[in-house]
Amino acid sequence: MERVYNFSAGPSALPLPVLEKARDELINAKGTGMSVMEMSHRSGMYLEIIKEAEKLLRELMSIPDNYKVLFLQGGASTQFAMVPLNLMNKSKKADFVNTGVWSKKAIAEAKRYGTVNIVASSEPDGFNRIPGLDPSEFSRDADYFHITINNTIYGTRFTELPDTGEVPLVTDASSSILSQVYDVSKFGLIYAGAQKNIGPAGLTIVIIREDLIGRTMDFTPTMLNYKIHADNDSMYNTPPTFAIYMAMLVFQWLKRQGGVPAIEKLNIEKAKLLYDFIDNSSLFRGTVVPRDRSLMNVPFLLPTEELNKKFIKEAEKAGLVNLAGHRSVGGMRASIYNPMPLEGVKALVRFMEKFELENK
Ligand SMILES: *Cc1c(COP(=O)(O)O)cnc(C)c1O
Repeated sequence: MERVYNFSAGPSALPLPVLEKARDELINAKGTGMSVMEMSHRSGMYLEIIKEAEKLLRELMSIPDNYKVLFLQGGASTQFAMVPLNLMNKSKKADFVNTGVWSKKAIAEAKRYGTVNIVASSEPDGFNRIPGLDPSEFSRDADYFHITINNTIYGTRFTELPDTGEVPLVTDASSSILSQVYDVSKFGLIYAGAQKNIGPAGLTIVIIREDLIGRTMDFTPTMLNYKIHADNDSMYNTPPTFAIYMAMLVFQWLKRQGGVPAIEKLNIEKAKLLYDFIDNSSLFRGTVVPRDRSLMNVPFLLPTEELNKKFIKEAEKAGLVNLAGHRSVGGMRASIYNPMPLEGVKALVRFMEKFELENK
């Protein structure tokens, strides 16, 4: 069977060469007579894999030496608690920008451990934008300032970072890590579930400035303590070995594409193609204010719920799958992460053109 163009928001499409390489090594990895899944995480062969994964990620994101890279589990959702448990340690206050469902979940967890100040929210606008930020609303003594840099469900992104001064900026970058160049030194901590732009589900990446490690709340479970994982090179317990191996293959693939600056250029081209079509269409419409549009998740609507349904169904028949919007918002959403080729976006736009002619 042919492979489809998969616009899933996550878990999402992986590059075909990565899947082929994993397939080739599945039963006998590098002459060991076993799969990577079957190796001890403390074997020499596996240590090479995890070291290579970290080295490539550091190279791709130009991660400064004073940051640790942690390979964890539990998804971004576990970070909603792990961040406050480890970072809310002086004033026990944190500032948050509320830009959607994931921000709200992060806020709800942080509230269990300290005081949350919501400096701005786009909830009154249905999360169709990034709210304007007024620095006079920021808490000068906050232990950290949290943003969701790309909002997977609504299709918005921060194009400018808030200037938080000495307060460490923390971001959930689950759906945009490695899609565009980020200056890691502007952040205290970046976290991301792997299943959108990195690899299979089961791996969570945390990039944390070293001085933020080690002042955890007393009752923090061992497994939720960054220091434990940092001191043990992400090997305190068994890490998600196969997911880390897959991430390593994705990092190798991304490097072959020219790294993050090259993929960013391609991502801008892909997103522009789709947004330009939507803006010029008399049938389809976008849902996000143009300034804050995501490069990764592109939501759009047709005039009626009936047409939305028809579009999703017919697109699927044409090999363009997983275009339904998140269950909380409906409509359509095309997630066009790094592995989605330009050709896939072109095929979607051609299909939308045809649909428009047939349904005017
Ligand atoms: C998908 C997603 C999450 C949830 O991730 P899990 O790994 O399922 O916990 C959180 N934040 C953002 C921005 C996401 O896109």
